Amino acid sequence: MSKKLLVIGESRDNSLRNVTFEAIAAARKIAADGEIVGVLFGAEDLATQANEMIYYGADRVITVQHDNLKNYTSDGYGQATMAVVEEESPDVIVMGHTAIGKDVTPKVASKLNTGLISDVTTIDFDGDTAVFTRPIYSGKAFEKKVITDGIVFVTVRPNNIPALERDESRTGDVQAKEVEIKDLRTIIKEVVRKTSEGVDMSEASVVVAGGRAVKSEEGFKPLYELAELLGGAVGASRGACDAGYCDYSLQIGQTGKVVTPDLYIAVGISGAIQHLAGMSNSKVIVAINKDPEANIFNVADYGIVGDMFEVVPMLIEEIKKI
Ligand code: FAD
Repeated sequence: MSKKLLVIGESRDNSLRNVTFEAIAAARKIAADGEIVGVLFGAEDLATQANEMIYYGADRVITVQHDNLKNYTSDGYGQATMAVVEEESPDVIVMGHTAIGKDVTPKVASKLNTGLISDVTTIDFDGDTAVFTRPIYSGKAFEKKVITDGIVFVTVRPNNIPALERDESRTGDVQAKEVEIKDLRTIIKEVVRKTSEGVDMSEASVVVAGGRAVKSEEGFKPLYELAELLGGAVGASRGACDAGYCDYSLQIGQTGKVVTPDLYIAVGISGAIQHLAGMSNSKVIVAINKDPEANIFNVADYGIVGDMFEVVPMLIEEIKKI
């Protein structure tokens, strides 16, 4: 019997995050001939986003529209997920390994007494069996897991499993489901954005990250300029965040965000193990540091030994010429 896989989509400002499409691609990898059912939660009309999920590979989509799903809460999404899972009885539920995915999947998995394979970066096959690889011990080792039986939740790390080609000729049913969502213990009254608009760091293909060497909030300005020229986002080490040069929402590492961009430029970052945990899987790493012995050079593909206050403006100038 072919498998049924639910993919829970995630959106921001009524637009689906790329990790939703990557989760669909992961589901298709797990079961090439399985049925992929997209799932969307929100307070407004979800039809356009549902169609996007179909264009990217979902066979049909279930939408749950409710005022209590306007903003993410563990309670609201938890109740909606439980209701859909109980009705659909899927074999696998896939979601992005994002702040939301990390919060809701263990909660629902434990309620349903099912398994969870989190932070998956690749899916391979041993015969017919899907083998999930996930980094452990801050990226120092990799663990391989297989599903033996029962329903299993899988979360996929953004930027690791490429989305399928968008195909507008694909069609599928979009079914609105009524779910009672009640007794929320948390109500979000207002959302105040601390980070600036622009590319979302966890989905960015280029990240320019600054360390304690940046020295001030002002010192981050050239990094923003470089990131903008490259169509990327700005991140930071905890050293820079602790020193008050930038907001903690930019922190990359063991206790910050995990990023896997195509290009990671580490500017004045020493390369502590806790920082590497958040970026060492980046496809190409460029390090700029004035200390040739800095640990960051051990993971860098390209190293520039020099003063960031000279090197970054030079890079900006050269890139502007292209
Ligand atoms: P530093 O270690 O001070 O390094 C600055 C670097 O800049 C040096 O290598 C120096 O040679 C170079 N430099 C100085 N001036 C210049 C210049 N003009 N031009 C070029 N290079 C220059 N850290 C994280 O980043 N993320 C985490 O999530 C995280 N979690 C942690 C969790 C725990 C439990 C603990 C204990 C620590 C954690 N840390 C984390 C902190 C981590 O151990 C380091 O202290 C931190 O990463 C250091 O930040 P940094 O590299 O910016 O600063």
